[in-house]
Amino acid sequence: MEYSLVCIECGREYEREDVYTCECGGLLEVRIDDTEIDFRLDGKELRVWKYGCLLPVKIEPISLKEGGTPLYECDRIGKEVGCKVFVKHEGANPSGSFKDRGMTVGVTKAIELGKSAVACASTGNTSASMAMYAAKAGLMAYVLLPAGKVALGKVAQALMHGAKVIGIKGNFDQALALVRQICAMQGFYLLNSVNPFRLEGQKTIAYEIVDELGFVPDKVVLPVGNAGNISAIWKGFKELKRFGLIDSLPKMIGVQAEGANPIYKAVKEKKDDIEPVLNPETIATAIRIGQPVNARKALRAIYESKGTAVQVSDEDITKAQKDLASKEGIGVEPASAASIAGLRKLAENGEIERDETVVCITTGHLLKDPEAVLRACGKPIEVEPSVEAILKVL
Ligand SMILES: *Cc1c(COP(=O)(O)O)cnc(C)c1O
Ligand SMILES: [Zn+2]
Repeated sequence: MEYSLVCIECGREYEREDVYTCECGGLLEVRIDDTEIDFRLDGKELRVWKYGCLLPVKIEPISLKEGGTPLYECDRIGKEVGCKVFVKHEGANPSGSFKDRGMTVGVTKAIELGKSAVACASTGNTSASMAMYAAKAGLMAYVLLPAGKVALGKVAQALMHGAKVIGIKGNFDQALALVRQICAMQGFYLLNSVNPFRLEGQKTIAYEIVDELGFVPDKVVLPVGNAGNISAIWKGFKELKRFGLIDSLPKMIGVQAEGANPIYKAVKEKKDDIEPVLNPETIATAIRIGQPVNARKALRAIYESKGTAVQVSDEDITKAQKDLASKEGIGVEPASAASIAGLRKLAENGEIERDETVVCITTGHLLKDPEAVLRACGKPIEVEPSVEAILKVL
């Protein structure tokens, strides 16, 4: 398969693959040239590498059998909002988030480029996933986290998989700016979503949705933090159309927390770039980002698809998290629940039609953030070890 790196702003093409952004400062995108499609959208054997003919790597992939996540039909939530609702549960990936789809491609690319170390800034899941794939590949992994602002389960994963984890006394946006400098100085391979190869893996969410549903949904709703995933999924749908595998496209709906809402504000004001939010704050730590690096790509995805962005409060997020867990049996972390909270917001705004199909992406697993669960549900009741005491509280 032939492909090239192209700047989304000035169109300049790069032969080299170890670049992250254009000399003009623009984001790069992998352009897949015409190629033979060797898979069928038959709903069978879903996984990231089923679609390998559209993934830009030249060696045997470093894989932990990522992708193939369940797509659940959610009748109770569907009835409430008045349409057909599916949830694609990305928490079912090996490290418990969709980041694995990107990392299998990104870490394979690191090996291809002869790198011996990978690095990222992270709100948590990127570091957990990168550490896992670096372990599989035998690479060193360096992680910069905003100290005290990362969910416990995610830090635990990064540590146990052997990454060097450094907390910085600042926010994610600062950590990302720092890791970009460190990578340039030390020759580490940067695996944040500014890396265009990582996003190539994440576009397989679109492929799998169509593969499993057998048709293109009307809307795809997902939380937006650094804004890579919404851009990647939109690219995935556009490629399916370009290769003649589908003939319509969904609207892309980005959901942000009220305290970290630069994309929402840009869409509301019909702007094609964001104003950074300086001190982003939300319980949904995975989307606690004020200056999304992929904002320009994400805004294009929203405008091209005739989608929109909505913002939700932390209370909306916690309620959605509880409802998804207790009414549909799907356990997700707060950021993921933002997709359901966002769907409810759309319904409230009258932006849902009765006969449409909406797919919400739940990006990460419930166990990622046990502290959020205790805050939302409280601790279990404790009683004396007797039948009477137990019956009293049943
Ligand atoms: C990374 C992440 C997001 C945000 O994805 P972006 O591509 O940065 O917009 C949302 N939810 C979870 C659980 C994540 O790990
Ligand atoms: Zn450029």
